[in-house]
Amino acid sequence: MEKTLVILKPCTVRRGLVGEITHRFERKGLQLCGMKMMHLDDTILSEHYAHLAELPFFQRIKNAMMAAPVIVTCWKGKDAVHVVRELGGKTNGRVAAPGTIRGDYSMSMQENIIHSSDTVENAVIELARFFKDEEIFEYETIGLDVFYANDEI
Ligand code: ADP
Repeated sequence: MEKTLVILKPCTVRRGLVGEITHRFERKGLQLCGMKMMHLDDTILSEHYAHLAELPFFQRIKNAMMAAPVIVTCWKGKDAVHVVRELGGKTNGRVAAPGTIRGDYSMSMQENIIHSSDTVENAVIELARFFKDEEIFEYETIGLDVFYANDEI
């Protein structure tokens, strides 16, 4: 089973949407394996968003991620990376499809509620960036048979 990183951004914490957004992943059938509040700093964000370093407003994007604490979470499930990206929707909240998290909660390209890992390889790297090994938990859910057929797991 894959694991993926989701960061509930400062806009989400400030708007009091932590429970609502977390609920979306839970009701989908993803398993919560890690969750903590952190205040991000410039160093970790420069690494995390290195692919955006050439943007003229790179510092603004980082500042937005430092405007309040974030909630970093780890979710597990079959094809979890892809599933979570689909639940999140397109980057720009104004064009993200209704029904997706960004489509339902965001009016912005920048203030777009969540970050989620975009590939399986990046999920491994990003989870290690934000979590220590002992902060990721393994435990039994109520039963995988209510979430999956037995040839899916
Ligand atoms: P995603 O979060 O959908 O994977 P990116 O990795 O391209 O998207 O960008 C990371 C984050 O940087 C976005 O979620 C958004 O908050 C911010 N961002 C990216 N491009 C822009 C932009 N053109 N204007 C404002 N913010 C941006």
